[in-house]
Amino acid sequence: MGEDRRGTGRRLPKGRERVWLWFALSLFLLGCREEPPPERLRQTPPPLEAQRMMMVERQIRARGVKDSRVLAAMERVPREEFVPPDQRPYAYEDGPLPIGQRQTISQPYIVALMTELAAVEQGDKVLEIGTGSGYQAAILAELTPHVYTIEILPKLAERARNTLRRLGYDDVQVKTGDGYLGWPEYAPFDAIIVTCAPESVPEPLKEQLKDGGRMVIPVGRQWTGQTLYVLRKHGDDLEQEAVIPVRFVPMVH
Ligand code: SAH
Repeated sequence: MGEDRRGTGRRLPKGRERVWLWFALSLFLLGCREEPPPERLRQTPPPLEAQRMMMVERQIRARGVKDSRVLAAMERVPREEFVPPDQRPYAYEDGPLPIGQRQTISQPYIVALMTELAAVEQGDKVLEIGTGSGYQAAILAELTPHVYTIEILPKLAERARNTLRRLGYDDVQVKTGDGYLGWPEYAPFDAIIVTCAPESVPEPLKEQLKDGGRMVIPVGRQWTGQTLYVLRKHGDDLEQEAVIPVRFVPMVH
């Protein structure tokens, strides 16, 4: 702003007087300036949708997940909607995130891997133990309309229920309770995904798996290490395959 633009014809301040006037004016203008919202300061990261596509490429496909239906589901479900507002900017980072109640939403790669291992077909009936944020349940709901999920912490169950409804995953059934016991009313299941770690595979879950069904489950203690297993039921036999070492929160029972 130049003094000549004022055009008032009045005597303009000179020397020190003028310096002080500018100083005061700048302070005033600084004070009036609206604080830019934090988003504008962080303009550099790409929009969340673009980040989601990059996540699928770099964290999931690059690590060997191939099932195109799983990859498509991971591209569609907005992970940012399942985390608390302050975690949204980190929704597509390569790791778990806090969701309150001392629990976490799993790393996207682990969600994709477990979903692929569960080999869910359209029309399958699937049980998840450990709803947490509801994100894994939403991924499963992209593959089949029959998804049942159990969360032991009422606050998380309620929040996940709301998030799933808000995003249109109306068919997902969320139960508040102990997933160790499974959900006998809807058994048997084609697939069971367990996202908290028991020290051994719960008997009720084995029983509620359909003949030919798959269970993907981390087993072991939290600090000494857990292994992700796929169990495949053939009649009375449970074929067991160890996949990778993992770290999940313990299954409370
Ligand atoms: N699948 C979740 C992340 C799971 S975190 C997601 O997509 O966000 C593990 C969850 O298992 C926690 O919310 C924890 O409260 C829950 N949990 C622990 N023990 C449980 C039990 N016995 N039955 C059901 N949920 C349990």
